[in-house]
Parts: sequence; C-alpha cells; structure tokens
Amino acid sequence: YPENYRQMVDAHELLRKFYHHLLVNTDEGQPALEYLLKRGFSKESIDKFQIGYALPSWEFVTGFLQKKGYSAEHMEKAGLIIKRDRDGTFFDRFRDRVMFPILDHQGNTIAFSGRALGDDEPKYLNSPETPIFNKSKILYNFSKARSSIRKHQHAILFEGFADVIAADRSGVENGVATMGTSLTGEHVSILKKNVQNITICYDSDKAGIEAAYRAAVLLNDAGCTVKVAMMPSGMDPDDYIRKYGEEKFRNEVIGSSSTFMSFKIQYFRRGKNLQNEGDRLQYIEEVLKEISRLDKAVEKDLYLRQLADEFSLSLDALKQQANQSQDNGKGQP
Ligand code: ATP
Ligand code: MN
Ligand code: MN
Ligand code: MN
Repeated sequence: YPENYRQMVDAHELLRKFYHHLLVNTDEGQPALEYLLKRGFSKESIDKFQIGYALPSWEFVTGFLQKKGYSAEHMEKAGLIIKRDRDGTFFDRFRDRVMFPILDHQGNTIAFSGRALGDDEPKYLNSPETPIFNKSKILYNFSKARSSIRKHQHAILFEGFADVIAADRSGVENGVATMGTSLTGEHVSILKKNVQNITICYDSDKAGIEAAYRAAVLLNDAGCTVKVAMMPSGMDPDDYIRKYGEEKFRNEVIGSSSTFMSFKIQYFRRGKNLQNEGDRLQYIEEVLKEISRLDKAVEKDLYLRQLADEFSLSLDALKQQANQSQDNGKGQP
C-alpha cells in the first residue's frame, strides 16, 4: 500500500458519510436533493450509492479535515483540497456539487466525482490521480456488482454513473462504468478475470458509438463475448429509463442487444449513402473483411447470405472475395 494509504482512505470514508448526511438531512442539501429526485434518482439509490452534497464553501472541508486531525499536505495528496500558490493556504476542491463516492474494488471510498447542479463547467469534476486512485484501474460500482456479475457471468458496461444507478434501479445490478475515460487494458483484464459475457451500453450519440466500437474491439480481442445495446439516437440509458421505463429498458435495450458482428455491420453503415456506388462497394468490402475473420462456417454463411440478399449479389462471388480477404489477412502480423 502507498504511504499514508489508511489516512487517505479514512478521510474519504469520513467525507462520504458527511456529504451524504448534508444531502439527505440538512436544509443546505435540499436543492441538491430536489435536483436528484427530479432527475429520477430514488431515495433507495441515493442511500445505496451513498450520494452526497458538497457545500458551496471554499474552506469547509479544509477546516473539517484539519479539526479531525488530518494533515493538510496528505489531504492535498489525496486530492480533497488544493494548495494556493500565492500563500500556501488550502481550499476545498469540491464546492456546491452532487457528490458520487468512487469505491475501489474492495468497497473503500478512494475518490469522488462531483456533478454540477446546473450548467456549470465542468459538468463532472473528478478527484485527480492520487496514490490511492488510478482511473485506469477503477470501474465504478464494481465492488457492488461483482457478485451479480460472477453469478450470471454477465456484466454491462455503461458510460456514466447516472446510467449505472438508473440501471440498478431497474433491477440491472451488474452494471459498471469507467471514470469518464475510455476503457483501458487494465479494465479489460479485470473484467476478463471475472466474466465471459459483456454487454456494452454506451450513449447512443456519436461519441458513445465510437467509444462502444473501440471498447468492443478491445474486449473481443481479449476473448470476451461482446454484445452492444443501442437506444434511439441521442439517448443514454438514464434518459431511456426515465422516458420508457424499467421494463422496456431490460427487454428492448439490454435484452435486444446486438452481437458484435451485427453491431459492426450497423457501425460500417454510418455516414455512408448506400445508394452511392462508391460507398456501397466500400461498405461491402468492410463487411466482407469482418466476415472473413469469423471462425465459424455457419456464421460466415449467415452473414454472407444476408449481404448477398441485401444488395442482390451472387453468393458465390461474395464467398470468393471473402476467402480472398482471408488469405490477404493471413500474412499480416
Ligand atoms: P448526466 O446525465 O449527469 O448529464 P452523463 O453520465 O450522461 O451525465 P456524459 O456527458 O454522457 O454524462 O458523460 C459520460 C461520463 O463522462 C460521465 O458520467 C462522467 O464520468 C464523464 N464526464 C462527462 N463530462 C465530464 C467532464 N466535464 N469532466 C470529467 N468527466 C466527465
Ligand atoms: Mn455521453
Ligand atoms: Mn450520458
Ligand atoms: Mn445522462
């Protein structure tokens, strides 16, 4: 463990409880609580995920931690307070934000993410990288989701905290999210150790679809069985659940997710006009290349037929070309 690990974690645990108390029991927390309830967070979720509120003060946490005997230098290293260059005094990092505690995979609070109540920038403010918090190794909610993930051998990967929490409220308890970053090799190996089947359920906007494609490739390369769940354009899982309800989310989003291959087929269509000959040829070539990579002959046959039907092409010609691109691929590293 890093030096002062216990102290840093203890301070986070203490603040987690205090932020939560401020949110649920005090007048100062009332606007934040109303914001959350209006957004569809339930009281149960607020307790379960220990959501809290940081006061709009520059020195509340700084003073509070000092009174509890924590050294300011250590608390700065832990990312909770910030040192002023001007005079070496300290101020609170998180002010007037809804606070989401970030737990390590054992369930200790090691960081926070604070969401602005309105349109303040940044929307989410995260703890910096610290001796106890490494974003590229942490999956939000993993400590709570682990047993469900293992039991069902299925994990759902979301983009945001709000999505994990909304899904949990809908009975989908095997959801995790990255910390506002792309999925890393470290995340992949943690998942791979615990679970075979992973459904990616990122936002159905441009950024989310691109990120889903990259995450799917990484997970698939690691040997996971990947599916991708999509929502109507522009929505995220939290939006979807609020608009269409929990049951529709379970059945029509998670339950109707696409195989990696059929996600790729949809993905290659994006931005192309298939009425246009050049786009159409490029699309067919991209799909053929993916088909040639499939292991199972039956799957190959299925997608080739699909392609042949869709563009009124001869199955033989497609087969021939698929075999060619397979041969071409073989010489490559
Ligand atoms: P909300 O529903 O509260 O608006 P969201 O989860 O839908 O939030 P997105 O904009 O889809 O937010 O971003 C996905 C995730 O990326 C967030 O949950 C957060 O972890 C991270 N993120 C978003 N904006 C920022 C930011 N400005 N700084 C750091 N992380 C961010
Ligand atoms: Mn997004
Ligand atoms: Mn989102
Ligand atoms: Mn959202």
